[in-house]
Amino acid sequence: MSSADVLVVGQGIAGTLMARELLRVGLEVLVADPNLLPASSQVASGLVHPIVPRTGGLTWRAAELFPVVQHYYHNIAEETGQFFFHSMPMAFVADTEQDCQHWKRAAEKLGAAWLQWMDELPEMNGRCGAITRQSGRLDMHALCAFYKAKWMTEGRYYHRAVLWDELRYEGGFWHWGRVKARYVVLCQGAHAQGQRPLELLPFHLTQGELLSLRVLTPDAMPSYIVKKKVFSIPLGDGVYRVGSTYDWNNLETAPREVTRETLLQQFRELVPDAGAVEVLAHDAAIRPTVGRRRPFMGPHPEHPQIFICNGWGSKGASLAPLLVPELLACMLRGTPVHPETDAAAYWP
Ligand SMILES: Cc1cc2nc3c(=O)[nH]c(=O)nc-3n(C[C@H](O)[C@H](O)[C@H](O)COP(=O)(O)OP(=O)(O)OC[C@H]3O[C@@H](n4cnc5c(N)ncnc54)[C@H](O)[C@@H]3O)c2cc1C
Repeated sequence: MSSADVLVVGQGIAGTLMARELLRVGLEVLVADPNLLPASSQVASGLVHPIVPRTGGLTWRAAELFPVVQHYYHNIAEETGQFFFHSMPMAFVADTEQDCQHWKRAAEKLGAAWLQWMDELPEMNGRCGAITRQSGRLDMHALCAFYKAKWMTEGRYYHRAVLWDELRYEGGFWHWGRVKARYVVLCQGAHAQGQRPLELLPFHLTQGELLSLRVLTPDAMPSYIVKKKVFSIPLGDGVYRVGSTYDWNNLETAPREVTRETLLQQFRELVPDAGAVEVLAHDAAIRPTVGRRRPFMGPHPEHPQIFICNGWGSKGASLAPLLVPELLACMLRGTPVHPETDAAAYWP
């Protein structure tokens, strides 16, 4: 029988950061994930930036998030000796008069506050827009793989799904086969939709696809992230991550030929001088998105020893370093989670 303080169910970015936080405060933690492919964190481009491109305004809690994000991933680099987060400017380019006005209006609306985050992109070849330096890319896939390998070596990793029917609460512990734990944290991403005990959570899942491209003449490419309809992120050695699409109707995880062509077309519009490219990979996964665009956090209303850590949408890389420690404080000290994230709101 393996006994622990906490069983973490699911090891995408949410489960990884949650398990890491629990271990850091000295708790005994077990992690279970059957690695159902493709998990959102395995595919995500890991972009971190404070801007809502549609409005040109700031993302939710940007002023609290961004000082924490850099610091958080820096701590992980110190702990592991590996850099999973890469700071990099990000330019939102516009090449029509209407789109240029969009960014000018955004700057006027926020005034001095906007200048804390963004600079105007100098007008060049008929292009304008905005650029932020509070941005970067988290290699979520590598981060999760690193901790998976470490926790397997430590004997705390189960390569199996945890199903609700297999869990039983008895004598102050949740029992799962030969494992028992005082608390369970549910971090199954999109796989939780419609599944007990989270069937009341209103996910509004989106499928997303992206490409990895080798640009054969990379001299024409910007050395930072650029975005218009799609983004292009330099990964080094002439390789770029290009994406991503949002599809609310097709929830298949097989990438589609038609999307590949659309992404290639939009990449050429974004970087017209890129020249010939070779497609190295084409990936798809389902984001755990929520209509209200806020994660689901906090204790399960019917099972107070179960905690919910889900609904990260397209922002797991930037939101998790702030919200996972908030969930930890809720577990350890009973501090309420942020009211907009409280999953209990969905229970009658
Ligand atoms: C194309 C695309 C691009 C994206 N780009 C970005 C981006 O630029 N920036 C950003 O921040 N986010 C991005 N995202 C979103 C990001 O991937 C998510 O916010 C985040 O990864 C969600 O993490 P998660 O841990 O909640 O879920 P997941 O990564 O899906 O992990 C859930 C894990 O739970 C496991 N699991 C499921 N059921 C069980 C069970 N019963 N028992 C045990 N384990 C189980 C699964 O195997 C999986 O490993 C993107 C997503 C996609 C698809």
